[in-house]
Amino acid sequence: MTTSKGKKSHISAGSATTIVTAGRAPEAQHGFVNPPVYHGSTVLFANAESYRARARPYVYGRRGTPTSAALEDALSTLERAHGTRLYPSGLAAINTVFMIFARAGHHVLVSDNLYWPARRFLDEVLSRMGVEVEYFDTTIGGGVAGLIRDTTNLVYVESPGSMTFEVADVPAIAKAAKSAGVTTAMDNTWASPLFFRPIEHGIDVSISAATKHIGGHSDIMLGYASVNEQTWAAFDRDNAIIGQSAGPDDIYLGLRGLRTLGVRLRQHMQTGIALAQWLRGRDEVAAVLHPALPSCPGHEFWKRDFDGACGLFSIVLEPVPQAAADALIDGLEFFGIGASWGGFESLAVPANPRANRPVMGFPHDGPVIRLHAGLEDIEDLKRDLEQGFARLRAAL
Ligand SMILES: *Cc1c(COP(=O)(O)O)cnc(C)c1O
Repeated sequence: MTTSKGKKSHISAGSATTIVTAGRAPEAQHGFVNPPVYHGSTVLFANAESYRARARPYVYGRRGTPTSAALEDALSTLERAHGTRLYPSGLAAINTVFMIFARAGHHVLVSDNLYWPARRFLDEVLSRMGVEVEYFDTTIGGGVAGLIRDTTNLVYVESPGSMTFEVADVPAIAKAAKSAGVTTAMDNTWASPLFFRPIEHGIDVSISAATKHIGGHSDIMLGYASVNEQTWAAFDRDNAIIGQSAGPDDIYLGLRGLRTLGVRLRQHMQTGIALAQWLRGRDEVAAVLHPALPSCPGHEFWKRDFDGACGLFSIVLEPVPQAAADALIDGLEFFGIGASWGGFESLAVPANPRANRPVMGFPHDGPVIRLHAGLEDIEDLKRDLEQGFARLRAAL
């Protein structure tokens, strides 16, 4: 690996040091630490011949700027990827990867604990284009080999699932797909490249919603796909003509957020695990769904393959009316009620995994609440939840 100072380094891809050093070129911007935000569509050329040749790094705004290249380079280093492309959202990144690798009359295999808006894209748009979408139980591991057909173009896995948190045996899934010559992609938003690097485990395309941890401040929409060398040429040829392009200010804020990912994520992890352990001991809670707890399906794979956990997990309440669960959520002082996660503020939302898991089902009865442990003091968060449990009991 080469750092921004051009020295050889032995720092691992998934380290806080790499997060600080990757993708930097201060000498190319008069010594300033961060790159400027290039707003641009047209790139001017000196004459007709040089325009025809377009033999320079930047030829048109949609195809990239020095700002987007800085973030793409940093992410490629972190992900151990050959290249990275940015998208205006995480969902756009996921859907573009399907558009590139799926074929009409062919078949894709997708883990059943998929982010549900992506499931809607597959069921309502990709299916209309003649692609057969088959969902599989994420805990199947190498058993996915038995589902691969001659017509399978892509195996896609989300791990841990971002609502129910089962952890897949990713190396086994990647190996099964590889031996059948099938491309693999993974949604790695939960772990971020700090805690898991899909390409190191045999996956071809690592996708993340940078909206979440990398932005880290609930103020941008951004996605990316990092791709290994073998898959890059085929991926990038199609990607360029599909026409996705992220906004320059969001790219800049993604780069800014990235530099503090190490400290933020370690704090999210610490608070999240402490809350999960505390919640597990409460009478009102039937189950805590967190990859770091031994009760979580696939916990052994989390322990084997991941370097940490983020602050996102779910709790299943003992069976109570939804109104009692809502009473817990509604009075919370420090937990916001809203979609997304990975920002500095804690969040709590009612979740309904039963609606979207036809293959795996969901083995619990009570209401589900998904929590994002933010950067507040844990004692304040515990007190807030304690008052929530009092409201729940009062509502029974
Ligand atoms: C939020 C999320 C996405 C989509 O990201 P957006 O930037 O909101 O489009 C994809 N996958 C997972 C796991 C997510 O949590």
